[in-house]
Amino acid sequence: MEKVLIVGMGFMGGSLALSLRDSDFEGTLFGLDVNPRALERAKEMGLIKEGFTEYAPVKELNPDLVVIATPVGTFEGIARKLKEVLSEDAVVTDLGSVKGDIVYRLETILGPRFVGGHPIAGTEKSRVENSVRGLFKDKKVIITPTERTDRTALEEVVSLWRKVGGVVEFMDPHLHDRVFGAVSHLPHAVAFALIDAIAKLSEDVDLFRYPGGGFKDFTRIAASDPVMWRDIFLTNRENVLKSIDTYMESLKLLRDLIEKEDEPGITEFLKEAKERRLSLE
Ligand code: NAD
Repeated sequence: MEKVLIVGMGFMGGSLALSLRDSDFEGTLFGLDVNPRALERAKEMGLIKEGFTEYAPVKELNPDLVVIATPVGTFEGIARKLKEVLSEDAVVTDLGSVKGDIVYRLETILGPRFVGGHPIAGTEKSRVENSVRGLFKDKKVIITPTERTDRTALEEVVSLWRKVGGVVEFMDPHLHDRVFGAVSHLPHAVAFALIDAIAKLSEDVDLFRYPGGGFKDFTRIAASDPVMWRDIFLTNRENVLKSIDTYMESLKLLRDLIEKEDEPGITEFLKEAKERRLSLE
């Protein structure tokens, strides 16, 4: 890990660079981004030695590890460009929120040196200037090796995340998408839709002037980046649709209990939810 290139110097790429800089990592960090301002900012923050907006200089740089940290919809195009300029033994990983088919497609393009990854850490903020020091400390990092994954590449990626304090867990790429389609992608869909519902209910009174603590807590994630979430919903489409359908059934169940003024039914529904939520703590 002498020369590490981060493709996408945004919030996650920047937080990884910041965390590596604080660790025992002794190599040099470089960035590639379509937005030159993100690279300038990363340089000013001391996160990278040099930044590129094109792939040609990457050939000369010859990095040994590349981390793709852009929105998931861009991954395949980036992988094709990387394949043209990387040496055979350069390891490539990503930190995208969707794995599943995309892992196999990137493996087809880049070969067994590609290792899929997803740190379960983040915020609703984007852009490099919002990078968080220690973002990955004690956080789960899901690594999704396949039967073809090169063992040395896998070890290198595991070591990268352990350096920044991540707790590595291995998972099948498709299982990853079922799990996070439910516990991450669904809550984001619900938060975005809730804001839409409140806007529709604001016809004669501006309801956004009266946000309670619960509303603010619940909708914090609706301030997340639209492009990033569009790509996540479309790339994990089937799992997201299934999760939304199940959620609509649950909401309909609660709605019916309220309509029927079913006191014991409502109490039981809320009690079960409360117990499940408390068991998380
Ligand atoms: P971000 O918007 O802060 O950063 C993305 C960066 O990628 C930007 O600087 C943008 O200019 C650059 N970019 C976009 N298209 C590009 C391309 N084709 N080539 C090169 N650069 C390009 O987003 P982020 O929050 O850092 O998210 C990045 C990735 O991390 C996403 O795949 C997301 O699913 C994943 N992720 C995010 C979080 C989170 O909480 N933000 C958590 C886990 C995983």
